Amino acid sequence: MWRWILERLDEQFPAFDVDRWWGIDDPFERMIGSVLVQNTTWSNAAKALAGLRERSWLTPQALGSLSADDLIPAIRSAGFQQAKSRTILRLVHWLMQHGGVGGIIERQATTEQLRSELLSLKGIGEETADTILAYSFNRPTISGDAYARRLYQRVSGESLRYKQIRHAILDEIKTWADLARLHGLIVEHGKVICRKRSPRCEGCQLRPRCLFFDHAKRLS
Ligand code: SF4
Repeated sequence: MWRWILERLDEQFPAFDVDRWWGIDDPFERMIGSVLVQNTTWSNAAKALAGLRERSWLTPQALGSLSADDLIPAIRSAGFQQAKSRTILRLVHWLMQHGGVGGIIERQATTEQLRSELLSLKGIGEETADTILAYSFNRPTISGDAYARRLYQRVSGESLRYKQIRHAILDEIKTWADLARLHGLIVEHGKVICRKRSPRCEGCQLRPRCLFFDHAKRLS
């Protein structure tokens, strides 16, 4: 099912590019962005990232020398600034203990090991951990976020939790590059086509196997 979904979404968005979708290339900036975007929009997170960039704070060394109180005004636009400032500092200290982004990439640790270390940091949940692992460290994992759950529920009629969706995808799709693309495509599709309200089924490549569409067609 997930391989088929990936192929159809690739057809749906033939020009899709993971790096362009992120809008930032730097793995460290993506890590910080992954915390800032919790419970807010990417545009609010991007404003907070820009605030950090203006202050020349977007390096592990610069952030690692700050206190949470220093950080709060700079990230206010992302909301939850008190909690997020502390989470960012915990993440930065963990990263620096392991030699920075390069140190983590070279470390002989399994993805699950790194994932459990990230999850042990207060403020890092599954979605943030999987996003950091996939897009900062090129690890083969994927977020079973609300977009993935909605898509799966509409296509198959089955509601799955985060862990179940993640495992189902990882059972079928193994490479980091495919997983990173699939997640980006699911989010893009969820924003543009399979929207929460009024999905645009007529133009959707997933129609042939979508129970939601099938049901709506029979009722019309
Ligand atoms: S056919 Fe409609 S409900 Fe089904 S995945 Fe596409 S947009 Fe979503």
